[in-house]
Amino acid sequence: MMPQTQSTLSIDGSLGEGGGQVLRTSLALALITGRSFALTNIRRRRANPGLRAQHLKAVEAARDVGKAKVEGARLGSQSLVFEPTGLYPGEFHFDIGTAGSTSLVLQTILPPLSFAATSSTVTLVGGTHVPWSPCFHFLDLHWLHHMRKIGFNIRLKLDAAGFYPRGGGRVLATVWPVSRLSPLCLTNRGPLKRIRGISAVANLNQSIAERQKVQALKQLSDVARPVEIEILRLSSPSKGSLLLLLAEFENSQCCFYGLGALGKPAESVADEAVNELLDLLATDGAIDHYLSDQLVLPLALAPGVSEIRTSKVTQHLTTNAEIVKMFIPVSIEVDGKIGQPGSIRIRHTK
Ligand code: ATP
Repeated sequence: MMPQTQSTLSIDGSLGEGGGQVLRTSLALALITGRSFALTNIRRRRANPGLRAQHLKAVEAARDVGKAKVEGARLGSQSLVFEPTGLYPGEFHFDIGTAGSTSLVLQTILPPLSFAATSSTVTLVGGTHVPWSPCFHFLDLHWLHHMRKIGFNIRLKLDAAGFYPRGGGRVLATVWPVSRLSPLCLTNRGPLKRIRGISAVANLNQSIAERQKVQALKQLSDVARPVEIEILRLSSPSKGSLLLLLAEFENSQCCFYGLGALGKPAESVADEAVNELLDLLATDGAIDHYLSDQLVLPLALAPGVSEIRTSKVTQHLTTNAEIVKMFIPVSIEVDGKIGQPGSIRIRHTK
């Protein structure tokens, strides 16, 4: 952690995407750099602005990890002051209390905990497979795969899956101190080698998982061989299903998934993942647009130059880049239009 010599950063939460990610990225970087921030207009561009349960839990988790002085940490709050005093590893337990995303809270505190002096464990209760966030299996098979390549030492375990609306999933994370981080060059994906997948159900008939699998195999029959999809039964307090695809290229991998919902046919769940994958295959992207925005923060911490060819430039990506630049002396060039494939170049300037 760097010494706190600089003044409190003022951040306008309506910047760019203007959602929860501005908050989470600020929390993570405040913990890592030791820099305090004052955030206004929290989630201003959302229909329901201010802190919701998942965001508040991210604030509380970051507060505990950094023994931070915090003002404005309550549901609905549109401003927050966060002043960390250090990085304090330990055994943490957080319950979001709703189906709010456990993955997003983990992405907030696991990178900072990696810079603490000793290891930590985190137990998190909430949604593990909920819309608009990385599901547990995306986090484990895809985000973590890249985090390890950068040099982070994190392990994740799913004890129970939590689906919308009930939540109640449980994830265990163990994080060890990093020794050295390395930049990544993910510019040329190379040929598609195979597609792996998971078709999972919790408290639903296994035939739903079979139908999701059959549909994905049918839709992908002209695209790649082999396509290997494993059927899983997940333990969970609620009902749910998912179909996840991991496309493995010679030099990179990309991941998409669909989630079941009441009244949504199993075939549509599979189609969602397949269609996103087909869209990516029609580009020269080496990394899917979801992971691209999630890699900006960890790669900004690695020395040297990182480069990513993304299947789609998003506002999440450009917004995250702006926030990261406020905390870290780094140049982040995003070349490409929103909605189009593009390139990201991250380079330290000090
Ligand atoms: P909001 O403020 O919009 O209610 P939020 O706090 O949940 O939302 P966002 O700011 O929208 O979060 O950030 C969502 C994050 O989840 C982004 O990093 C995005 O890449 C990721 N994400 C969303 N959908 C997926 C998906 N299907 N697969 C993987 N990651 C996803």
